[in-house]
Amino acid sequence: MSNATDVYDFYLYNSATRRKEKFIAHTPGHIEMYTCGPTVYHFAHIGNLRTYICEDVLEKYMRYAGYDVNRVMNITDVGHLTSDADEGEDKMLKGARREHKSVMEIAQFYTDAFSATGFIDEYIKIISKLLDTGYAYPAGGNIYFDTSKLNQYYIFNSHDKDDLAVGVREGVEQDINKRNSNDFVLWFTKSKFEDQALKWESPWGIGYPGWHIECSAISLKYNGEYLDIHCGGVDNAFPHHTNEIAQSESYLGHPWCSHWFHAAHLNTSSGKMSKSKGESEFLTVTLLKSKNYDPLAYRFFCLQSHYRKALVFTWENLDNAQSAYQKLIKKIAALRSDGEINDQDQIIITQYHEKFLQQVGNDLNTASGVTLIYDVLKAHISDAAKLKILADFDRVLSLSLLEKANELREKEANQKTIGAGDYQITGDANAAPDETEKINALILQRYQAKKSKNFRLADQIRDELKSQHIELTDIPGGAVWKKI
Ligand SMILES: [Zn+2]
Repeated sequence: MSNATDVYDFYLYNSATRRKEKFIAHTPGHIEMYTCGPTVYHFAHIGNLRTYICEDVLEKYMRYAGYDVNRVMNITDVGHLTSDADEGEDKMLKGARREHKSVMEIAQFYTDAFSATGFIDEYIKIISKLLDTGYAYPAGGNIYFDTSKLNQYYIFNSHDKDDLAVGVREGVEQDINKRNSNDFVLWFTKSKFEDQALKWESPWGIGYPGWHIECSAISLKYNGEYLDIHCGGVDNAFPHHTNEIAQSESYLGHPWCSHWFHAAHLNTSSGKMSKSKGESEFLTVTLLKSKNYDPLAYRFFCLQSHYRKALVFTWENLDNAQSAYQKLIKKIAALRSDGEINDQDQIIITQYHEKFLQQVGNDLNTASGVTLIYDVLKAHISDAAKLKILADFDRVLSLSLLEKANELREKEANQKTIGAGDYQITGDANAAPDETEKINALILQRYQAKKSKNFRLADQIRDELKSQHIELTDIPGGAVWKKI
């Protein structure tokens, strides 16, 4: 612990310096955090979701370490084009086509949530200054950022032919207005996309902002001039984040963001998961739920790997994660919560808190955090102390460990056999309590009918249960039922 600010010193890899570094906030004890948000033209696929999970855990860890965090996320999508470069098909139009909705309907989604128009003045202010100071130029009706004016353009990668190839990729037309191949649009008035639904007035004509300017403007407005950490998927590092740095620092005239956090891809066995692959590749949380996966099992799956390593998604991997998660919850549900926490337990609780701070604070090592959960379950401390430690870890991991364990306990209580003398009924754990009560009563009635040789009534009850989709199995000394 650092005495001056009462925060824990943690370490994080910085993509800008390509080193793991002690995290130093511009204002001690306070972190200004910015995350490029989800685009709104389609439900976030689970590849993006991995990035959001990593960012969420990072934010929670920083709070756990004692920092006050101001997190800002961009969810507008005014200038997001299909390509990473400024050319390409308008993603909003593409989304509209896929969803069979109008562009305006999709746009409504974010205009309701977040008023994009509120930022237009910010974009205009930044672009105007970049024009005044010679970092931007008008050409062909658009305003471009001039990357040749920078001392350093490449931040996260070296200047090589792969980078240069961005502008000349297959299917991407080159923009003849650009002075340099990496120059990018700050403001469009001449758009190839005649259907561009959202346009605003500007000193350069009616149009809309380029993709990169949104993030810079939103961050400058809500995080201030010194950003401590900027997060996103690794595919955003170039050109998006590179261009954000170019325009923000040229506008401010001083260094802008000290720390860059990039989460690696989630791959399928056939390659990177991406929105552009079409619907067959779309793995969304809704799909996971429809296949009876708990979204928390997906979170558990992500937390078991390191955010800087590509993670391979297969249904088998997810099955393994789900079964491990369920076993874990079962173990936690078996702990007794009514015990006392003695002084010795208290010492160990503090030790685990420090261990978690230190281990997860080593470049957001969430897998270590998960391992610590299992260590706690094996530790020689009271169950009440274990639950207290797990609740503490869950402030960061957000696996709903105690909530899920409580749910399971309730389910099991529901399922508990009810007895009539030597006759025991075991119900379906997934049935609601009032339903369980009704079914149990019917089964008990059938048992009594059989006992008094009223077989007709017994058969009637059996048919009645069948019509309610209840499968009843007689076993020695009782019956087991489940919903089918
Ligand atoms: Zn962004």
